Amino acid sequence: MRINRLTLHNFRNYKELDMDLGNGVNVFQGENAQGKTNVLEAMYFCAFGRSHRTSKDKELVRWGEDNARIKLHIERERLDKDIDIFILNDGKKSIGVNKIKIKKMGDLIGVLNIVMFSPEDLKIVKESPSLRRKFLDMEISQLDRKYYNALVSYNKVLNERNSLMKNRKMDRNMLDVYDHQLVDNGLYIMKQRMNYIRMLNARGKDIHLEITSGRENVDFVYVPSVPFGESMKDDFLTSLSRNREKDMEKGNTSVGTHRDDFSININGVDVRSYGSQGQQRTAVLTMKFASLGIIRDIKGEYPVLLLDDVLSELDLSRKKFILKSIENIQTVITCTGVENIEDYLTGDYRLFNVTDGSLKWKE
Ligand code: ATP
Ligand code: MG
Repeated sequence: MRINRLTLHNFRNYKELDMDLGNGVNVFQGENAQGKTNVLEAMYFCAFGRSHRTSKDKELVRWGEDNARIKLHIERERLDKDIDIFILNDGKKSIGVNKIKIKKMGDLIGVLNIVMFSPEDLKIVKESPSLRRKFLDMEISQLDRKYYNALVSYNKVLNERNSLMKNRKMDRNMLDVYDHQLVDNGLYIMKQRMNYIRMLNARGKDIHLEITSGRENVDFVYVPSVPFGESMKDDFLTSLSRNREKDMEKGNTSVGTHRDDFSININGVDVRSYGSQGQQRTAVLTMKFASLGIIRDIKGEYPVLLLDDVLSELDLSRKKFILKSIENIQTVITCTGVENIEDYLTGDYRLFNVTDGSLKWKE
């Protein structure tokens, strides 16, 4: 799929922007703090209904203005789509798809598929399990709306369970009801995570070998909070009840899919603890490029790829890998200009100059 046209109104530092994107590589070049990432953020918002860097939507409204608007036209294999987003400066938002206002976020997810890669993504490998869960959740949700809905229900039940447990005079029967609801949603989440990690291995192993010239074998291993297998429903319920007394003291739930993780091993060794900086970087690159292929396998077409500032951080062979891999994928690359990116681009590309909230196509 491709984003043909993007219109912004009072979004971040853009007063007005109306741009046509090329089908291949689009390079946004400009100095720091000019508005390169802001445009990617607007596109990301249309895919996931939220920003990749803030949870406060009102920050997206241009300072001093009442509301921001993002409009985007997507060309897809089957049916083209228009997305229209209004964000008010009190943080409220309304989202339309093909002129129909959507009622819940789940109806937006998956309309536009996006893979975004920025330097902060190194944290997926290095830091806490929550970032790896977030990676899985974003990737699987954009392929499977049922997963997104299960996740929303799971988190709602989890919050209700936790607040009930904080109440000393609680109804224990209600806790039993919550446990069953957690397990029902949790089992679907676990199955889909297991399946995604299987696809990550199937796609990622070859990519990783290619980037490392055959030197490194990568393995992604699901580390669920409750053992995965035939008896996982019973195991899940038993773990919840076994931990109940302890959980009640703390007012939180110590087992469940909200505690899942996955490990990334290179040549059999956990890259989070033992990997070099370069190995960790390659691991993220592998995950991102594997996820492009997974989306293509399932949706029948590639997503749009957003590369924010990543080329300057990578060595020549990884740069070449990226630029070779994006031939059939609409890509937006931001850079400051020192990377001489034009030297590496072989096919058609469009170059845009970004200065102080304005973006101009340099023909
Ligand atoms: P870098 O190369 O450093 O990553 P960039 O071009 O990607 O820079 P952006 O993050 O896109 O920069 O834009 C940052 C600019 O947008 C900053 O100057 C910031 O002050 C401005 N900005 C952010 N939010 C708003 C807002 N709500 N209203 C007006 N301007 C904003
Ligand atoms: Mg930026």
